Amino acid sequence: MKFKRLADYLAKLEQTNSRLAITEILAALFDQADGQEVAQICYLSQGRLGPRFANTEFNLAEKLMVRVLAKAYGQEEKEIRKAYQQKGDLGDLVQLYDQQEKSKPLSVSQVYQQLEIIAQEGGGGSVERKINQLASLLSGLESQSAKFVVRITLGKLRLGFSDLTILDALSWLVAGNKSKREVVEEAYNIRADAGYIAQVVKEKGLQGLEKLTVSLGVPVMPALCQRLGTTEEIITKMAPRQAFAPSSGRGVQEEAMVAVEPKYDGTRLQIHFGPQQTVIFTRNLENVAAMFPDLVAALGKELKAKSVILDGEAIGYDPQTSRFLPFQETIKRKRKYEVGATSKEIPLKYFCFDILFYNGQSWLKKPFRQRRRLLEQVLPKSNQTIMLSPQIVTADPERLRCYHDEQIAKGLEGVVIKKWSAPYEPGRRGFTWVKLKSEKGKKGAGLTDTLDCVVMGYYHGRGKRAAFGIGAFLVGARHGQEFLTVSKIGTGLTDNQWREMKRRCRGTELIKMPRNYQVDKNLFPDVWCEPKIVVEIEADNITRSPIHTAQYALRFPRLIRFRDDKDAFQATSLAELKKLYELQK
Ligand code: ATP
Repeated sequence: MKFKRLADYLAKLEQTNSRLAITEILAALFDQADGQEVAQICYLSQGRLGPRFANTEFNLAEKLMVRVLAKAYGQEEKEIRKAYQQKGDLGDLVQLYDQQEKSKPLSVSQVYQQLEIIAQEGGGGSVERKINQLASLLSGLESQSAKFVVRITLGKLRLGFSDLTILDALSWLVAGNKSKREVVEEAYNIRADAGYIAQVVKEKGLQGLEKLTVSLGVPVMPALCQRLGTTEEIITKMAPRQAFAPSSGRGVQEEAMVAVEPKYDGTRLQIHFGPQQTVIFTRNLENVAAMFPDLVAALGKELKAKSVILDGEAIGYDPQTSRFLPFQETIKRKRKYEVGATSKEIPLKYFCFDILFYNGQSWLKKPFRQRRRLLEQVLPKSNQTIMLSPQIVTADPERLRCYHDEQIAKGLEGVVIKKWSAPYEPGRRGFTWVKLKSEKGKKGAGLTDTLDCVVMGYYHGRGKRAAFGIGAFLVGARHGQEFLTVSKIGTGLTDNQWREMKRRCRGTELIKMPRNYQVDKNLFPDVWCEPKIVVEIEADNITRSPIHTAQYALRFPRLIRFRDDKDAFQATSLAELKKLYELQK
């Protein structure tokens, strides 16, 4: 496929608001490309050269792009900067400068490969080499193609869809509707690389996905928790005795059990450990192994396995008192600089609660009780850093309540309850795992959990807040690929939090409302923000709302923290919001 054709499709996608129409356009595009191109298109259309976890974003600085354009089109840098101020988009300038006919149109793969070469440039003089190569690539492309290459390399191609739309489009490609979405998503949850999944579907159809399995180095979408109100409800739902034959043997009894584990408030890490390399993924599939050299070293010493994928929570502790540190301290370990010094200041323990892969084999489908037995072999009791998560196994709501209260008394967040006989459910928020933070009824009304909302825009401050440049901000919940508002928050932040909020908003400001936002006109903020900042919000309760597009609003919302470990598509969903609303009643 010629890149020019892809650029025509990107232009169409840019003009399209409806999710369904975007899905159809993508499916038509996939239909015309070959397998390898489909994978490349998946990456390029999201401004990358590979899957999200491979850290292949370009993010070329704008001032370098000015130099690239000057070189490609023989313009003065000064003039380009001036035109940029007027147009607000460097990509749009290409059409202004480029007048020449192009003789040989490049293919998608040729452009992709050239971009790969440019991205891999490193060492002395690499900036100059990048500028020269990119300028030469641009001048060989007709103007619409060049415009999109500029946006891709700047990280500014905002087509407003994520991997999830690609999964919809794949269903559309094979079935002409969304009926196969679940099958495609199941595969993606096991191997979270949309480009790879797309190539398999294109080349082998849905049958190709049947053989797909866990792969060391490619993230598995982490299993997530549901919420339930009381320990009685939890036991009834997760370990219903009547569902099993009257007990005759131990195995049957074990079916009607749950495992209960402390809920550590640290940071979720999926560890891929093997003979060649160790990779560590965060909850939103960023590869962060370089930030945790202490964990990498401990894995080599403490694991009894050749290769494993582990799921667990890393939490910082005070080396003097051995007490666990709050999340805000643990998260300081997520940094690119002074990694060594910070790892001494804030040492970590990794509480491992699941094993997904062991010595070359997937363990996803085995029941939890078997996975747990394996974990006990892989993690010796003498370990100092890579620890086996404590747990009890019970079917008694009272015992569950006591264990929960013990964890709260120790300063932990609560407990996570897990079906003892269930497989690991990648990417699903099912009733296999349920979290219990504070029990319903105990604290009167009130919410059983906090919400993770997306900052959609902000309002300029008046009075004292004018100095911060922000007086309130608009937050929303996720509904599929869209964001619906739930609250305008203008109080409850410390001065430092306001400053921090403004600082973070600055990097995400937009002139127009993104297409996937639904906001009532009366709530339009002064400045729109890209859906990038996720904040954890505590509220007294949730009410029905005629103004907010989620149709629910938060009462007395308070900012708890920034959730840097989540991206916007992992924010609280409308379905979860409804569930929390019902749980409080
Ligand atoms: P929260 O906001 O409550 O931390 P979340 O929205 O990040 O939750 P949930 O799926 O709702 O994600 O809660 C599960 C999270 O709890 C996991 O992502 C993990 O980080 C953390 N956790 C801590 N201890 C455990 C445990 N023993 N088992 C499973 N998850 C645990």
